[in-house]
Amino acid sequence: MSKILFITSEAIPLIKTGGLADVSGALPLALHRLGNDVRLMLPAYPQAKKKLQQPTTVAQLYIPGLPGSVQLIQGKLPNTELSVLLVDYAPAFERDGNPYLDAQGNPWKDNAERFALLARAAQRVAMNEAGLNWQPDVVHCNDWQTALVPALLHNESPRPATLFTIHNLAYQGLFPEETFRALALSDTLWSPTALEFYGQMSFIKGGLVFADRITTVSSNYAAEIQTPEFGCGLQGLLRYRANVLSGIVNGIDQNVWDPQTDPLIAHNYSVEQLHYKSDNKNHLQKHFKLPVSVDHMLIGFVGRMVEQKGIDLIHKVIEHLTDLPIQLAILGSGETRFETALQQAAEKHPKQVGVIIGYDEALAHQIEAGSDAFLMPSRFEPCGLNQLYSLRYGTLPIVHNVGGLADSVTDATPGNINQKRATGVVFYEPTEQALLAAIKRAYEIYNNPQLWTDIISTGMRQQFNWEASAKRYMELYQAAMDARRSIEQNF
Ligand code: ADP
Repeated sequence: MSKILFITSEAIPLIKTGGLADVSGALPLALHRLGNDVRLMLPAYPQAKKKLQQPTTVAQLYIPGLPGSVQLIQGKLPNTELSVLLVDYAPAFERDGNPYLDAQGNPWKDNAERFALLARAAQRVAMNEAGLNWQPDVVHCNDWQTALVPALLHNESPRPATLFTIHNLAYQGLFPEETFRALALSDTLWSPTALEFYGQMSFIKGGLVFADRITTVSSNYAAEIQTPEFGCGLQGLLRYRANVLSGIVNGIDQNVWDPQTDPLIAHNYSVEQLHYKSDNKNHLQKHFKLPVSVDHMLIGFVGRMVEQKGIDLIHKVIEHLTDLPIQLAILGSGETRFETALQQAAEKHPKQVGVIIGYDEALAHQIEAGSDAFLMPSRFEPCGLNQLYSLRYGTLPIVHNVGGLADSVTDATPGNINQKRATGVVFYEPTEQALLAAIKRAYEIYNNPQLWTDIISTGMRQQFNWEASAKRYMELYQAAMDARRSIEQNF
């Protein structure tokens, strides 16, 4: 069993903006349940401080260049025995709202300094220099906000093994060269073989260049990011590191996302009692002020309103759906241009389109439970969680064939239907026409109730539990630790 320091910028239930928080809350817990000694480390945002249980200040760190000291607050993730370390430095993290953006939706101006501070505190804990009398065997970093850690640890010896997980390669933490200089990092890191990326400083390269192992959140995305189409300019580096790069699919938290016990939905149901699902549909239609109708196929969407998610394709396809008995229930927030366009579409077609702008955890559950089908026309999708929730809630996913969507949804082709493998509808081009054809195909299946029930029942029986994925991470930790040990023995 290993000692694991898991570093992240968000984790449920302390703070969440997206899928990273779901993973960072659930994976460390699964590793802890498998007998590992895990500490989950993240910034002490006000929301996180408020929710942390049994908080105690356990260390005070002095980081060169910082006026004042950084406190480490140790506590428990709510209602669990998982240890959490919050990095408390008020000028950096004591702010309301989003961990990354100000009230206007712009990145905080000092994000580089804030996440470099998180990395420096993590380095101290990793090297047992924080006064905790605890040194991890492995340090697991997630996304650009934590990617400096492997770079800072690289030259230490002996040191813990490092693993870096890419949750979304499109977010890289790019800053001007002056920022690199201001952070007082070692000059050797200013090179194209280190953190420099076409004249800018790239946080994510810290993880991609220096981590002992790299993972991403589906096998398909691990292959895709080695191509120019999905590699965001980093495909060459990722191909170079292909021997240590692999994909491990995310699980879902089956306690939170279970239609049989979910306290947030109108009526609980299971694959044996699917008829209760229609009460949830009825409730959802009312919530979105849509006509209550069994005959209409109700399609849900929950997510960030950005181009990645294909929200523009959904907007364009609406005009073609108005002569079909189809309704849309859309929840999300993001770029104003998409929010406005969708709200206008809802005003124009109030009987068919319901749009709610905002972030609403309970409503997200109600959409999964009450919709017949769920749309995910993402242009790229490292793993995607909503299609996994949809499968579990008997809600047919309609997805673009990319990343984790391709790995987790099996298209309702005649062959797959015959073999009872089909779980959803898959389309192959991120275009309005292909999306429309996929929706129409789903509608044809909807009109064949026996086939529809067969397909959603197959989906509901799929397993996406965290335990299986956590065991795969443990194998990788072991491989990385073994490799480290043999390097250190040879020096
Ligand atoms: P990403 O991390 O790219 O945003 P994922 O599909 O991996 O996408 O995870 C998104 C998570 O955030 C899911 O749990 C989803 O239900 C949730 N989510 C996204 N937008 C909203 C919203 N507006 N209200 C409630 N939950 C949301």
